[in-house]
Amino acid sequence: MEPSVSLLGEGIRKVTPTGVACKVGCGAKCKHEQRNFAFSTSVVPRLSSSWIWPSKLLAIARPAEDFFPDNVKYFKSAGIRSIVNLQEPGEHEHCGTLLAQSGFTYSPERLMAEKISFYSYPTKDYGVYSVDQMFDICKVISFAISEGACAVHCHAGLGRTGVVCAAWLIFDMGFTDVEAFTHVRATRPGSIQSRPQIASVSNFFQVLKQLRTWPLKSLSVDELYLRGMKAYNKHEFGKNPLVHPFILVLRKYLSLELIEEELPRTMSKWIHLERVKEGAWNSIRYLSKAQLDQLLREWLSDLKEPLLPELKDAKTDKLSDVQLNTAKMVYSILEDLNMSQDDICVLLTRDRAASNNRLCLISSNAS
Ligand SMILES: [Zn+2]
Repeated sequence: MEPSVSLLGEGIRKVTPTGVACKVGCGAKCKHEQRNFAFSTSVVPRLSSSWIWPSKLLAIARPAEDFFPDNVKYFKSAGIRSIVNLQEPGEHEHCGTLLAQSGFTYSPERLMAEKISFYSYPTKDYGVYSVDQMFDICKVISFAISEGACAVHCHAGLGRTGVVCAAWLIFDMGFTDVEAFTHVRATRPGSIQSRPQIASVSNFFQVLKQLRTWPLKSLSVDELYLRGMKAYNKHEFGKNPLVHPFILVLRKYLSLELIEEELPRTMSKWIHLERVKEGAWNSIRYLSKAQLDQLLREWLSDLKEPLLPELKDAKTDKLSDVQLNTAKMVYSILEDLNMSQDDICVLLTRDRAASNNRLCLISSNAS
């Protein structure tokens, strides 16, 4: 992936005070400002804007207060229910008119009065986010999208905006970092500008992969749970479900029957089971029921120990809450996949001779 700004340009920006960088870099008539933007086929007319994902995520340049009525009209007609700002207050003051109260080119309060939610994650121009910040932002965008389309902007809507859009594609849509770069660049040319920005997205992808790791015969369900919870979406599954998130995601896509959804053309033709094992849980949405069946069988047999291990001493040994709740949900999924009781028992206990007794632990209120 090539950055859209030269190494020299990047170096100059690092040592130049932001006000000067804006004056010199953007020039007297900044082409990113709404008043200077004339390309009429944009999603929001007279505002540089591109769908990263139709009706979900829109990348835009910063809107200007002078165009407030028009902007709101077009935001609403595009189904935009929230705006995520990535600019610092007072930024790029030479490019457009900043409002004294907000320090931005528009008033968040006026947006909110129009029932458009406003979220702010300021970072400096050409800046990056820590992995933790990236998680917070992705979770908020994921929530925002559950309520309608979401628009993200920085100054031009290319650098920081591109970074956040790529991170969301990885977090919520099961893209790899390379696929996310390709997709964001294809839908909004010039996006993701600097080397640190590219590196931050790749790093986010690697961390997410670790948190959404496959059991690899070395991790118990409790250990997997602790990792997975960091990459977990509270708004989707509730506060403290005590079920491994991978199983929650599987349950969600099985019940929604989203599996017919067409694969975006910018995603490579990996074997989908392998994608999921690499941490792209949201690729589950593209799997058939037969593939889900196979995936779950492999997950169960790749756990360090059976999900329902033999309890040596019924008085002192007991299953953890995560084990018990995860096993209950796995049981209901396997039932929905039309698996026989005997097969379910073998998969959960790894013991052909185990009587169905062990299943009684969970099957009484499994579904
Ligand atoms: Zn500018």
